[in-house]
This record gives sequence, C-alpha cells and structure tokens, in this order.
Amino acid sequence: MTKMRVRFAPSPTGALHIGGVRTALYDYLLAKKHGGTFVLRIEDTDQKRYVEGAENYIVNALKWCGLTPDEGPGIGGDYGPYRQSERKDIYQKYMQQLLDDGHAYYAFDTAEELDAMREKVKSEGKHSFQYDASTRMMMKNSLSLSEDDVKALLENGTPYTIRFKMPENQSVTVNDLIREEVTFQTNELDDKVLMKSGGLPTYHLANIVDDHLMKITHVIRGEEWLPSTGLHVMMYRCFGWEDTMPQFAHLPLILKPAPGTYITKKTKQKFTESFSAEFMKSSDLEMSLDDVTKIVQQVFSNPKDIQSQLKIGKNDDGKKKAVKEFLKNAMYGKLSKRDGDRLGFPVFPLSWEGKSEADSFVGFKEIGFDANAVNNFLVFLGWNPGTEQEIFSMKEMISAFSLERVGKSGAKFDYEKARWFNQQYLMHKDDEKIAEELSALLSKKGIGAPSAFLEKVAAMMKERVHFIPEILDQAYYLFEPIKSYDDRTIQKRWKPDNKEKMVILANTIKHINSFDADNIESTVKQFMEDQELGFGEVLPILRLAVSGTTMGPSVFDIMALLGHGETVDRMEASYKYFDEVIVSQA
Ligand code: GLU
Repeated sequence: MTKMRVRFAPSPTGALHIGGVRTALYDYLLAKKHGGTFVLRIEDTDQKRYVEGAENYIVNALKWCGLTPDEGPGIGGDYGPYRQSERKDIYQKYMQQLLDDGHAYYAFDTAEELDAMREKVKSEGKHSFQYDASTRMMMKNSLSLSEDDVKALLENGTPYTIRFKMPENQSVTVNDLIREEVTFQTNELDDKVLMKSGGLPTYHLANIVDDHLMKITHVIRGEEWLPSTGLHVMMYRCFGWEDTMPQFAHLPLILKPAPGTYITKKTKQKFTESFSAEFMKSSDLEMSLDDVTKIVQQVFSNPKDIQSQLKIGKNDDGKKKAVKEFLKNAMYGKLSKRDGDRLGFPVFPLSWEGKSEADSFVGFKEIGFDANAVNNFLVFLGWNPGTEQEIFSMKEMISAFSLERVGKSGAKFDYEKARWFNQQYLMHKDDEKIAEELSALLSKKGIGAPSAFLEKVAAMMKERVHFIPEILDQAYYLFEPIKSYDDRTIQKRWKPDNKEKMVILANTIKHINSFDADNIESTVKQFMEDQELGFGEVLPILRLAVSGTTMGPSVFDIMALLGHGETVDRMEASYKYFDEVIVSQA
C-alpha cells in the first residue's frame, strides 16, 4: 500500500483563520492515524494577495497547536521546495506539456477586451459571459487565430495568459470522501487561466502539479473548493495522472454562532448599537441612525426569535428591507474574519498585527487558551466521535478520528463551548505548569512570587476560571493590595456593634501557631462559638477584610496564602475603612 501523504496548502494572504487551523488539524490527524506524512506547502504564487509575515504566522500557528509538519519549508523533505514561488520552472515544464498535448492554449485577450465582451453579453440579456467551448472561437487566442498570427504575437512579446481547454461533453465524477459522488458536466465549466501573463501559475495549475509531484494521497480542504474540483480532476485526466490522483475530502463550512447565543437580554443594547453603526457605515441609503436603530431594536426585541423577525414582510419598505438584509448577512452564514470583532470572540489562533486596526486581531493563544483545548474544540467543528466523549487528548483524537465521521452540514462556531473546553483543560492541568504561566504574566507587571506560592494559587483557583490570566484578575489581591471594596455588601454586613469582637478575632488570629487553612478555620469557628456569632456575621466580613469582595475561593485558603502578618494587617485596616463606609452612608 502507498504511504498516506496529506498536505496542508495555505496561501500566505494574511493571518490563518481558525477554519484553516481546523483543516490543518484534520490533515494532521488523518496522516498520524495512518502512519502517514503531514506536508506543509506554501501556495504563494498570487503576488497580489501576498502578505508579508503571513507565512511566519502560519508556521507559528501550527507550532503552537502542536501540528508539526513532517515536510515543509524550513523542514525539508524529499519533494521540495515546498514554497510554490520556488517552483516556477517546474510549472513551466508541465504547462508546456498541456500546450503540446492540446489541452491548453494561449489567450491574448486584454482585460479591456474581456470586459467589453462581458458587457456585450450582458446587454444582449444572456447569461454572464464564460470563456469556454461555446465562446473561445470568438476570442483572441491560439485556437481562433492562425498559426502565423500566434507566432507573430508571441514573438513580438504580446502579453498572454494560458488557458485550460476544457473538453466538451464529458462528465467528471469526484468521489468525495465526505460528500460521496459529485458529478460535473464539462460543458458547464469554463476555460480557467492556468498561467498568468508574466509566467506565474495560477492556483489550479500549481496545486495539481504539486499534489502530483509530492505524491499527495489525500486532499482535505474547505467546501468552497468543491466547485473547482471538477476542473482539477479534468486536469489530472489530461496530464494522464488520473490513476494516482489524490482522494478529496471537502469539509463543511464553519458557520457563525446562532444569534440567540450572543444576543441576550443583557447584550441586546450593545449589539443594537454596533450593528446599527455598521449598517450606517456600509449603506448609501438616506437614513438616520435613529431610524436604523429602531428597526434593529425590533429585530432584537425577542432574542430567541430573531430569525422570524428577519423575514421580509409585506409592509416592509425598502429601508427596512435593507437593514434586515444587512443583519441577515452579518448574523448568518459562513464565519468570517470580521465576526471576531463584531461578535466579540477570537477567530485566529494567534494575535495578528495588520497594517490597520481593522486588520489586527487578538488570538486564542493571547486570550489564554490552551492549544489542546483549541484543538479539542476545533475537532468537533465538523467531526463527531459517535460517542458521548468530549475531551480528547491529541493521542485519543488521532486514534478516534476518521473522515467517515465528518458531516456534510455546516458546523456552528460556539465560543461558549470553546471556553468550556479550556476550563476543562485548565482544571486538569498541573499546578506546576499553571504556576509557570502565572509567573510569566506576573513578571510582565513587575511582580515576583515564589513558585511554591504560585502552585498553591493555581490549585485554589484553577476550577474557578476559564483562563489562566483570569486567575490574576480575580485573585489579584494575593499579589497586590486591595484595590477596591464591595461597599454595598459592607453596608449590609458591617455591624459597628460587633467591631470589638472582630478586633478580638484579629488578635486571636495573630496568635495562631501554624498558619494553615485548617487551623485558621477551627480558630475562627471556636471564636464564633465563644462570642455567639453566626457564620453570616463573621465570614463575609472576614472575606471583605482580606480580599475586598465576598466572592472567590475559601476565605481560609486565601488567608493561609496571604500569611499571618498580611492577614492581620488587612483585617485591622479594613475595620477602619468599614466604619468610614457606614459613616458616609449615615
Ligand atoms: N491555497 C489554497 C488555500 O489557500 C489551498 C486549497 C487546497 O487545499 O487545495 O486555501
């Protein structure tokens, strides 16, 4: 059996979208499951769309996710180079083969001539213009012109492209591993440009030649490439490579989350404002922000029922229709780069600093996601194991994964689920590892803390947060003085009449010998019994005194971590502050 070779072939046109990471993950899982090879190939032949830094970003993103290619740029392998811009001569050679065999032809039509043709066809009320068997003889190419004319044009350096001569009256069937049989009629396909003027191949040519030469056995890519696959199979046929052509698997789209998951009673206002503002920016209609806001408000009036509110009604005028159309596009369909900003969640693995703010994004990594949690979240966007299991280590994913269990229908991106996965990973992460990350985050703020202390913080906090940085937000008071107190609770709970007793508590605590959570707890309980005070009178006060808030982990754990001196100091200082709060309210 031939060894499985699966490639990930991104174009460096910007930061790699999370959908691209899912493709890479599936590539990796399939290859590893079958003892195959995972190849990274950079498809950088489209100079217009090339973005500086994007290749680096792709490499770093794969590295962070642990999806290490076996072959690729900077890694090597037997089938390099792995950057298409370094393979120009190879494409020339295979382009020539198609020309020689009559499967491709020179086309000399200028951009203006093509535009004029499109206009003409449009004005005649026909379908849009397609360069194909029915039109190619009307155009300026090596099929319609005489041999001498072609020779002359080539000799005097007239710019040309090379087009694929799509055969007539054939059907091509793609046996997609996810979509099963998909059949294309060649009469519906056009003569795609394979080589641009200037000699650079288009995606189609470079992709087919490379998949063939790199002995790729499986092509996994997004659904948007399915329409091109008819052409690709036809090209394999014309090259004489159909027997060894790779198998295709087109992944379902990743869809925007259901609006009901993010538009809630609480967030309605915020989204009304941002969508209204976006509509104003994008539309030429003369409408006031107020008018737009009213329509959006109406659509969001019942967050559970947005879809039916978006239906265009008989009485909806043009303006209302326009707003509804805008909202439909903004809230349904394929997940886009912009959705991150718009809906408030990351859609890129790593942060990306683009040329403008609109082109800069915060990544999953920087938000504090564990790469394993991201992989675990992504694997479920299209695949399911057929069991109830949700948490998969990479090893488990590799053994459970199969393309048979990838579905055809779009997978909704659910950010809450991503957060949930991260929480699960965090709960099971070693305290030591969490402590290391805490230490790095703290040192950025100029705060140092011993690792034994940070490990205790990790153990105490890891089940209470979704992300490691949240530990420092929620339990900052373990590292810094209290920044603010929950005054409302102080007003409710602080009884100046009990102050004397609370001072006794501070003194009692001062004399605890071994300052650990158990001892503190039994001392406090004994004190409550002796002083005839209830839990509600003592514990919230104690919490407020040492942390400023009544939320958080066990107060005895907090006190033990703060240590003897700091705990007592905070208690004494807080009592004074509590008195002031009461006085100021009186
Ligand atoms: N370079 C293409 C992309 O950016 C690759 C598509 C494919 O995998 O064939 O998505």
